[in-house]
Amino acid sequence: MLDDTIVAIATPPGEGSIGIIRISGSEAIAIGMIVFRPKKNTDWFKKDNYKLVYGHIIDPESDEVIDEVILSIMRGPKSFTAEDVVEISCHGGIVPLNRVLKTVLNQGARFAEAGEFSKRAFINGRLDLAQAESIIDLIRSKTEAGAKIAISQLGGKLSKRVSALQSDVLGQLAKIEAIIDFPEDDLPEATLDEMSLCTAELINEINKILESAESGKIYREGLQTIIVGKPNVGKSSLLNALLKEQRAIVTDIPGTTRDVIEEVLNIRGVPLKIMDTAGLRETQDLVEQLGVERTRKFLDQAELILMVVDAITGISEEDKNIIKLIKGKKTIFLINKIDLEARKVTAEEIQKIIDGNPVLEISAKNEIGLDKLEQTILELVLEGKVTAADNILVSNTRHKHALERAAFHLSEVLKGIRDGIPPDLVSIDIKSAWEILGEITGNNVTEDLIDRIFADFCIGK
Ligand code: GDP
Ligand code: ZN
Repeated sequence: MLDDTIVAIATPPGEGSIGIIRISGSEAIAIGMIVFRPKKNTDWFKKDNYKLVYGHIIDPESDEVIDEVILSIMRGPKSFTAEDVVEISCHGGIVPLNRVLKTVLNQGARFAEAGEFSKRAFINGRLDLAQAESIIDLIRSKTEAGAKIAISQLGGKLSKRVSALQSDVLGQLAKIEAIIDFPEDDLPEATLDEMSLCTAELINEINKILESAESGKIYREGLQTIIVGKPNVGKSSLLNALLKEQRAIVTDIPGTTRDVIEEVLNIRGVPLKIMDTAGLRETQDLVEQLGVERTRKFLDQAELILMVVDAITGISEEDKNIIKLIKGKKTIFLINKIDLEARKVTAEEIQKIIDGNPVLEISAKNEIGLDKLEQTILELVLEGKVTAADNILVSNTRHKHALERAAFHLSEVLKGIRDGIPPDLVSIDIKSAWEILGEITGNNVTEDLIDRIFADFCIGK
C-alpha cells in the first residue's frame, strides 16, 4: 500500500485564489518531471530537500499548457508523509484543479483515500497516532482554546506522558516476570511491596492526566446546548443576543434536515453548540415543531439546557410541562423580560419548583444579565474546575477511555498483589495495561482501528 504514489486536491472544493494538488510517494518527483515545465530552474528535481519552482503544468501528450503554477518539492524523509512530496499550487477553481489532477493520475499516481497522507505520516513514523489525530482536531477546532490544545497534542505533549507511562508499566512487567518462577511460599515480599507502590503511583499519574479530560472534551467537541421555552418568551432574542457578541462559526448538523441548524458560540474559549430552531414556525412549541420523538432525542443529546420563562406571564402549565420533560438535565433557568414593570415571577419562586439548578434574571432584548449567564454556564458545565487550555492533555474520548481502561487493569494488579494472586495471573493485567496505553500512541493498534481513525479525515489530509 505504501508502494504507490498518491495524489489529491488538498484545498477545499469551490473557487479559491489558489488550489493545491498534493502528491506523495516514490514517484512524486518523477511525475513532476513529466507534467511540469519550469520557467528557469530546469534542474529543479536535483539536490535540495526543499525547493519552490515557478512554471507550468502541461499535458504531456499534447504539450498544451494547463495552468501556471508554483511547485513545492519536499524530499522524504523531511516531509509531512516522510516520502517525497510535490505540491502544485494552481489557480484555484474546479476546472483547472481537476485538469491538473487528471494529468497527474494519468502518469500513474493513485487517487488518495481520506486521511491517507496523515496515515502515511503515522505509518512512516513521522507522527504517532495521538499526534495524527490532533491534526483533524486542529482543523475542526471551533475556538482558539480548542486549537491550542490540538497544537500541543500535535507537538507530542500527551504522547510523551503516555510513552513514559508505558515504559514504567513495562518495568513492572519485567519485575513480575522475574518472580513468576518462585515457589508460592518464597515470593519476595520486598519486590511485591515495591510493585504495589509503583503501581499505585502509575494509577495516580493516569488519574492526573485524566483530570482535564472532561474540560478537554468540551473544548474539542463543544457543548451541545438547547434553548427551550414556550412561544414568545424570548428564545430567538436570546440566541441572537448571544450570537451578536460570541458567534464562533456557523455549521450545519450533517445528516439532519435543514429545519434545524446549529450555531456555535464561543463562551470564553468554550464552544457552545446551540441548536437553532428559530427558523421554525414560531407559534408552535418545541414538541409540536419537532415531534415528540425528535424532541426527546435532542433533549437527550443536550448537555446543557437553557430554559426561558417569561417574567410577565409567569409560570404556566405549559412551562411546567417543559420542566417535567427536562427533569434531571443540567439546566439554567432564565427569567426573561425583567426590563418590564409588570413582573409576575421571581427567581425564588422558580427555585421552589426545580431542584438546585441556577435561576437567572435577564433581558434578552436589552442584553441584561448575559455576562452572568456566561459565567454560570462555565461554572455549571465545568463544575468550577475549568482547566485552562494550556493544562489540558486529553481531549479525545478514545484516549480518555484507553487511559481509564489502563487504570482499571492496574487497580486489578494492586488487588491481585494484595490478595496473594499468583504472579503469572497478575502479569496478565500488567500486560493489558501496557497494550491499552499503546493504543493511544499507536504502537499497539489493529489495522482496523487505524483505518477507522483515518477514515474520519478529509481527502487530501
Ligand atoms: P420566542 O418565540 O421564544 O423565540 O420569542 P422571541 O425572541 O421571538 O420574542 C418574542 C417577543 O418578546 C418579541 O416581540 C421580542 O421583542 C420580545 N422580547 C424578547 N426578549 C425581551 C426582553 O428582554 N424584554 C422585552 N421587553 N421584550 C422581549
Ligand atoms: Zn423564536
